[in-house]
Amino acid sequence: MSLIDTHCHIYSTEFDADRSAMIARAGDEDIIKMLMPAIDVSTHVHMLHLEQEFTETCISMMGLHPCSVKETYVAELKVVEQYFQERSFIAVGETGLDFYWDLSYAKEQYKAFQRQIDLAREHDVPIVIHSRNSIDECIDVITQNQKGNLKGVFHCFSGSIGQAKKIIDLNFYLGIGGVLTFKKSGLDLVLAQLDLNNIVLETDAPYLAPVPFRGKRNECAYIKYVAQKLALVKELPVDEIALKTTSNARRLFNV
Ligand SMILES: [Zn+2]
Ligand SMILES: [Zn+2]
Repeated sequence: MSLIDTHCHIYSTEFDADRSAMIARAGDEDIIKMLMPAIDVSTHVHMLHLEQEFTETCISMMGLHPCSVKETYVAELKVVEQYFQERSFIAVGETGLDFYWDLSYAKEQYKAFQRQIDLAREHDVPIVIHSRNSIDECIDVITQNQKGNLKGVFHCFSGSIGQAKKIIDLNFYLGIGGVLTFKKSGLDLVLAQLDLNNIVLETDAPYLAPVPFRGKRNECAYIKYVAQKLALVKELPVDEIALKTTSNARRLFNV
């Protein structure tokens, strides 16, 4: 049962004590690839080092996280662009809008999001969208930008059926993680109504651990709990969920 974790921050300090063991545990669960979204200049180097150490398994994206859009965002975006001039990446991200923590840089978040959409188009790679408290706003931005050739994923999707359908109509994917296993998330009812063609799995490790580890540090091996829950929701064997979501991830990220 090969799985791809399409979104994990395994270069973050939460894993400093046991990173190699954690990656080995993921290997034991047949997680064949771990795709790493970038955050900002404070973590790019750590991410790229990890990619070098585990080539083919831990694969980097490049971008600027909306929570890191502050007064330095223009310089941060320059760094992202420079990296893209030096080498290729599987995706731009993570980018998007986060209106949960702080609204004071909302305007700049929109600008950084737009620049990264343009970058994804220039380099013909998918875009990984973070849409906390901003799904409708992110859908609007992508709608304005979708001229047929933009592709990507709304990572950590936890919206309504209406929002899910809009995202799929835009030719984008839904990144499904631990939230699916939370009681009362309602995400099970949404996914029951969708086919699997636009679904990819993710952990968002170290955040959002699925049940039975909710509230604890998340790690890539736990993606199997998300796959198992999705199998229950779709009334399909978990092997079929793995096959389908892995092939979706391969198609989207070209890995
Ligand atoms: Zn995110
Ligand atoms: Zn993330």
